[in-house]
Amino acid sequence: MKCALITGGSRGIGRAICTRMAALGYYIIVNYKSNVEEANKTLSLVEEAGGNGELLQFDVADKDQIQKVLGEWIAASEEKHIEVLVNNAGIRDDSLMAWMTDEQWDNVLKTNLDSFFYVTRLVLNSMLERKYGRIINVVSLSGLKGLAGQTNYSAAKAGVIGATKALAQEVGRQGITVNALAPGFIKTDMTEDLNEKELKALIPVKRFGLPEEVAHAAAFLASPEAAYITGQVLSINGGLYS
Ligand code: NAP
Repeated sequence: MKCALITGGSRGIGRAICTRMAALGYYIIVNYKSNVEEANKTLSLVEEAGGNGELLQFDVADKDQIQKVLGEWIAASEEKHIEVLVNNAGIRDDSLMAWMTDEQWDNVLKTNLDSFFYVTRLVLNSMLERKYGRIINVVSLSGLKGLAGQTNYSAAKAGVIGATKALAQEVGRQGITVNALAPGFIKTDMTEDLNEKELKALIPVKRFGLPEEVAHAAAFLASPEAAYITGQVLSINGGLYS
């Protein structure tokens, strides 16, 4: 059974990717941190799209939980192979650096960057054995350009971009591609507190993006036909930065 694991699949961009990958015939593993109600809603949408899947709750910022929950799932699921991994779970916790606390730095780095390492390392083994895989990392415009008030988030996302390029070179000959998607402003819970009216004036297409527009790009990179695209960062930002 071909599976796609989407971290942070309970809401926003992750949910849209789950539904999209389900329509492509993947069995969907919906990871989430705590919002079981929203995670179940994603699973219903997966089923509505004609697919199937399950929830897998673990905190991507906690390497022991990843090892225990995801590690045990992999060991117990011999028939299920994760062909597509979307490292999507993420948080922001903005502050000017002069006022940023240790906790703000650590949480954002653990959730956005360390998670890439601990989740991907676990999933990689079976991709290497099967000589096929698609790894898609959801980064951000912030990791390319840097944004004031986001030294923690920009550092984490830039770190994932570097890791994407390095891992792509390590595993290219084994049929595994590793790419990143860099959204600009997308309408989700994460951007709810932003002044959309003011910000959209700065965007050439004059609007925030939709989670489905990011999911469309994820589906493209996940397709077998995208085999010759690896180590790339694809911006989805309405022309805001190139
Ligand atoms: P969102 O609506 O806030 O949803 C975040 C998702 O991540 C939820 O499913 C949440 O699970 C999960 N999550 C958060 N921390 C987690 C943890 N420690 N362990 C497991 N799951 C965790 O966010 P979004 O806007 O869809 O963002 C998705 C990704 O896109 C993030 O990596 C974000 O940095 C990136 N991004 C977003 C934008 C944007 O404009 N929205 C722009 C650039 C990049 P629960 O439901 O259980 O809390």
